Amino acid sequence: MGGPATDMRQKLLEIRGLEVEFQTRRGIARAVNCIDLTLYAGERFGLVGESGSGKTTMILALLRMIREPGRISGGQVLLDGVDLLKLSDEEMRKTRLAGLAMVPQGAMNSLNPVMRVGDQIRLSMSEHGQRRPAEAGRIEELLQMVGLRPQVAELYPHELSGGMKQRACIAIAISLRPRLILADEPTSALDVVVQRHIMQTLRSLGESMDATVLLVGHDMGLMAQFTQRMGIMYGGKLVEVGTVEEIFSSPKHPYTQLLIASIPSFKSRGEFKGIPGVALSLLNPPTGCLFHPRCPQALDECASVDPSLKELDGHHTACLLYGREGTHAATPA
Ligand code: SF4
Repeated sequence: MGGPATDMRQKLLEIRGLEVEFQTRRGIARAVNCIDLTLYAGERFGLVGESGSGKTTMILALLRMIREPGRISGGQVLLDGVDLLKLSDEEMRKTRLAGLAMVPQGAMNSLNPVMRVGDQIRLSMSEHGQRRPAEAGRIEELLQMVGLRPQVAELYPHELSGGMKQRACIAIAISLRPRLILADEPTSALDVVVQRHIMQTLRSLGESMDATVLLVGHDMGLMAQFTQRMGIMYGGKLVEVGTVEEIFSSPKHPYTQLLIASIPSFKSRGEFKGIPGVALSLLNPPTGCLFHPRCPQALDECASVDPSLKELDGHHTACLLYGREGTHAATPA
């Protein structure tokens, strides 16, 4: 869907050359490295990669929630044409929840343990720009939208199950009807049945609100079921972007191919296929293609040439196997 059909759709988020770095005693670590990505209104997009690939850092950057010693060192984040990186702190605070909102990874740690659920929703809404206090009816409506009984408003977080806490976090995230919902591994601590229900809730909310959902995670199966397009990250860079069908049926980048091959299946009968080598050090990244020390298909030039995302039959890949021309003339994905 990087092709012409997709380009007809309304762009909601345009990320251009986004860079995030962390200053450490041992040097600068580039956690997000020149990301270009477009998300369209109403779509479900999955961002996949192993731990440390920069997925969570990227969505924190979209929310401008990178804390020292980290900083956004370059790029643009255009939400409906407005560059979030140029907003004042006060404008950005009001844009969170109203323009874009995050469903966090650990619902357990995200809710205030000494405040009732309804009060937490009410407080979030007023802190992020809702002028009039939220009416009781609106809190009940939000709880029902995420599959919770209205009575949950009177409960404290410790009285809720893990799945209910995550639903309460989703109710907060959608309270001001954001156009973009960022979901950072929202089901990682939940069992598979609850996981499925939460994902169904996120999906139907996205559809009913016409919101774009950016799901971050490393569960390829979940991504295949939930998303329409996917981006694969490695070492802070996007190395492949395509539709779910393209990524699963004809992955181009060797890292994507290995990620897919590592998914356990009945055919493999318990045999585990990992990705060779170890994850790269952001403090001391290799020259050329960041994946070349682990890549089974590496060419000699991969150690010196850094490929950029290039369009290939509608989907985008950063790999020298697909031709040298245009390696430094990136096409935004
Ligand atoms: S550019 Fe070279 S090292 Fe990098 S993924 Fe492609 S083949 Fe492998």
